Amino acid sequence: MSTSGYQLNSHGELQTPEDNSELVLCRYCDLLQHLPELQPGEEAHCSQCGHQLDSRHPQPILRPILFASSALFMLVLANLFPFIQLFAAGSQHQMNFFDTSSVLFAVHHPALAILVWLLIQAIPAFCMMAVIYLKLGMIMSLPGRMWVARVLFMLKPWSMVDIFLIGLLVSFVKLVSSADISLGLSFWAFCLFCLLHLRTFQVIDRREMWARIGVNPKPLLTAKAGLPGVSQRLKVCHCCTALVPLQQMHCSRCGSQVHVRIPASIQKTLALLTTAAILYIPANLYPIMVTVSVGQRTESTIVTGIQLLWLDGAYPVAIIIAIASVVIPLFKIVILFWLCYLALQPQSDRQDISTWVFRWVDWIGRWSMVDVLVVAILAALVRFDLLMSVYPGPAAVIFATVVITTMLAALSFDPRLLWDQSNENEADMQQATAKEIL
Ligand SMILES: [Zn+2]
Ligand SMILES: [Zn+2]
Repeated sequence: MSTSGYQLNSHGELQTPEDNSELVLCRYCDLLQHLPELQPGEEAHCSQCGHQLDSRHPQPILRPILFASSALFMLVLANLFPFIQLFAAGSQHQMNFFDTSSVLFAVHHPALAILVWLLIQAIPAFCMMAVIYLKLGMIMSLPGRMWVARVLFMLKPWSMVDIFLIGLLVSFVKLVSSADISLGLSFWAFCLFCLLHLRTFQVIDRREMWARIGVNPKPLLTAKAGLPGVSQRLKVCHCCTALVPLQQMHCSRCGSQVHVRIPASIQKTLALLTTAAILYIPANLYPIMVTVSVGQRTESTIVTGIQLLWLDGAYPVAIIIAIASVVIPLFKIVILFWLCYLALQPQSDRQDISTWVFRWVDWIGRWSMVDVLVVAILAALVRFDLLMSVYPGPAAVIFATVVITTMLAALSFDPRLLWDQSNENEADMQQATAKEIL
């Protein structure tokens, strides 16, 4: 059976054409374009919006396995030995890496404890194991690779070991004037884990990995590069980047549900942004951290915490926390509202800039979690019974919810909506969306 731009076999799947040229759809601007064969060290970017379409690294199997297994080894070491020791007023307290979660449980903050455990232990460990499994699966037959790859790329933005490392440095600055800090073996193991974890994700070629899991169906030669995918009756799978015929609801390679545009994208984004904006008010009014020192209770909000750092002369850290906790969440909410407004306009221009801004706020939004992790670190570290102890305040959970909600808002926004008017494919798109709904 032949339709415009591609051919379906008896199972309703796209057939691979005779030639070896590869057509790809940009997930940010929906432009269909030829992907050149890349050599190790090369990257391919979208000619319209600049999004990285593909990359190639040398030794694509060995290096990710080595980095990921070394990272896992370092994570085990980080949990085995003392992490940090704190000396104050003749007393000492030793903190282990797992204490960042267990102490939060002990002081009756189970939601925060689970969140911190997921962000710095469970999700990073799963990601590293998944990378090893998938890379081994490229040289031997292993079951369930499709499921593992889908979960890996879904969880990747929620692995926050790099933010935890910055949180540790901020905590040290907060404590350095009142206590002596001694770094344990596990601290250095965690630093190495953080670097190896980041490096592992840098050397993974997503398209190459998916190509080894299942064949990427290609359109026939009649599909024209340089045109929007929707006008060529094609859409892109956000999970595995495969091309999917417009009328097909599920990706034939990874099984994910594929939509021509994210359904009710603007409505979902606006609802999540409104929730985040409302929660941002109590997140700033209530204390994020409570310090009990010699029976005296001191509560500090996000803003008063920044003021204290500034008064102590820790200007760079005060600026970092102010940017991460105040500027970024507000900026992200305002920018996403503005992008929703642009996407609803009948005519708009400079979509390359608005798409770049979207990618940037999407990337930077997770860094707002640094203040929540600082509270978790200080609560685990500063435990001198009656002398001095730190507890999370009610705003810690509320602020974590703000960060998570803004991250979900960015995931709900479909940047291709910004390009639809200029691509003059609105009619095609509306027709395709109507068919999907039916
Ligand atoms: Zn693009
Ligand atoms: Zn797919």
